[in-house]
Amino acid sequence: MLKQNNWSGTHYVHGDLCSGCITSSKTVMLEKKSLDEFLSNINKGKAVIVSVSPQSRASLGVAFGLSPLQVFKKLTTLFKALGVKAVFDTSCSRDLTLIESCYEFITRYRQCHSTTDKKSKLGLPLISSACPAWINYAEKNLGSYILPNISSVKSPQQIIGAIIKNHVCQMLYQRPEDIYHVTVMPCYDKKLEAVRDAFVFQLDAQGEKIVEVDSVLTTVELLDLIKSKSVDFASLEESPLDNLLTNLDEGNLLYGVRGSSGGYAETIFRYASKNLFGKEIVGPLNFKTIRNPNFQEVTLEVEGETVLKFALCYGLQNLKQVVKKIDSGECEYQFLEIMTCPSAGCLNGGGQIKRKPGESVRSLELKYMENVIEADPFENPIIKGLYTEWLDQPGSEKATKHMHTEYHPRVESRTSQLQNW
Ligand code: SF4
Repeated sequence: MLKQNNWSGTHYVHGDLCSGCITSSKTVMLEKKSLDEFLSNINKGKAVIVSVSPQSRASLGVAFGLSPLQVFKKLTTLFKALGVKAVFDTSCSRDLTLIESCYEFITRYRQCHSTTDKKSKLGLPLISSACPAWINYAEKNLGSYILPNISSVKSPQQIIGAIIKNHVCQMLYQRPEDIYHVTVMPCYDKKLEAVRDAFVFQLDAQGEKIVEVDSVLTTVELLDLIKSKSVDFASLEESPLDNLLTNLDEGNLLYGVRGSSGGYAETIFRYASKNLFGKEIVGPLNFKTIRNPNFQEVTLEVEGETVLKFALCYGLQNLKQVVKKIDSGECEYQFLEIMTCPSAGCLNGGGQIKRKPGESVRSLELKYMENVIEADPFENPIIKGLYTEWLDQPGSEKATKHMHTEYHPRVESRTSQLQNW
């Protein structure tokens, strides 16, 4: 099934370096561990499951001249030939992340507007939490004044891990400790996210420790794997996708939200406009560039008054400026989608395949949604099924237990801080 390699070994360069992904000895150690562990666990008799991010599919799509759907089907062939049991899609878990985030925003907004007590207004702006480099920075440097503003909803990576280890394992007649779950991500920092204590659980006091995500491969590490197996990836057969946790519609096309870093601001903005102000927005949102292309805002006006103001804030410099505004009480936004990588955020992450000379981020952005249907997360039948069968409803006790997390201030040595930033 696998053919001999004719991969050309093209030299790639990054146009815009990712400032988000940290380079520390810990990350390098985890990088080494990921690929070796992944391969060895396939041979240890564990049921290996791989969840692939849409950003990684786009990066491979550009590198090999394939659509994201073709990449996904060929990856399924590759992984299954190696012994992987199932290959899933983090666009699917991202829809659950977005739904929980919409409910969290509405709840905070209503709390803040139903009281004159200034202390209760600390809940806004709500800040996205899917970027582990940002979380790392906030926990080490900003501590108690900003952490309560960060969304408690887990990232799509951790949410798919929680679904697999708490729920899908039962459908597959597997014990969670017998499943080895690997994600493919655009980012080295996702390795550090996966090893956070909050993402380890025990079924009972005597039970084995179970992690939501056992190992993380970056897109570029997956490319290394492809090369090491002497695979002619572009010519691989295309296998049917595992639709249990994959956004695949009846016409056999992928679907998901637009937004290179997950579409948090856009999805919550649309939901809040409709549910707080009765304004359903049809068509694209009008994001306006403020200061630089990595800082954009969108507003909703009702009867001449600005009632919603959200921002996309990408890159370290923008992030630091907006944090200062929150600290001084001058932040006018109710929601901030913060990503530490500039120029398209996660799509431009440090774990992505380096672009060829002259290739722009735009080509990645176009590839990302090539033949991918834009779809409302609330209409995702897989997620509806998860709420019906397991989680009850958004924001429920069960959803909070499995889909939310907490952040804590962390003190690290000055040397360690300098290493990381
Ligand atoms: S913006 Fe995305 S790719 Fe970059 S560090 Fe954050 S999560 Fe990783």
